[in-house]
Formats: sequence, structure tokens, C-alpha cells
Amino acid sequence: ALTITAECINCDVCEPVCPNQAISMGPDFYQIDPARCTECVGHFDQPQCVELCPVQCIPVHPLHLEDRASLELKYRRLTSNA
Ligand code: SF4
Ligand code: SF4
Repeated sequence: ALTITAECINCDVCEPVCPNQAISMGPDFYQIDPARCTECVGHFDQPQCVELCPVQCIPVHPLHLEDRASLELKYRRLTSNA
């Protein structure tokens, strides 16, 4: 999963492009629900939020390092429960 750092300027660009509805406004800036972020695996070749973020504040979450198989499994779980 990816995460949004405090560099976020609340530009609102990433939230609507997330295919998993993983992004929402937090107390001070936007946040990503790691349980819903597949790094866009299953939907797009590249993370859509990273592609669009004007300040590059969306790194990989250091506590949620996942390989491609794990991300694909998460994608399948999310889509089967949708
Ligand atoms: Fe959503 Fe993709 Fe960004 Fe994860 S990487 S928060 S799934 S847009
Ligand atoms: Fe924050 Fe980047 Fe999302 Fe804009 S695109 S709201 S700066 S994380």
C-alpha cells in the first residue's frame, strides 16, 4: 500500500482517481486506507494517485510492503466483496 505524507497540499486531485476508494480526507491532509490500496494492481499499470500528485508526496507505506501477489490477492478480495 502507498501512503500520503504531510507534504500533501490537499489539492483534491488524487481522491476521485483511486479505483479502490482508498483515499479520503484525514484530519489535516488526505490519507490512504492501506486495506484498500492495491497500488492500483488489477486496475492500472501505474498508481494513479502518484501519476497525478503535483508534489510527489505518495511513497510506499513502510509498514505495508507488499509484493505483487499480495496486491493481486487484495484486489480480488476487494472486487469480490464489492
Ligand atoms: Fe488508490 Fe491506486 Fe493510489 Fe492506491 S495507488 S491509493 S489504489 S490510486
Ligand atoms: Fe495531496 Fe497529492 Fe492527493 Fe493532492 S494529489 S491531495 S497533494 S496526495
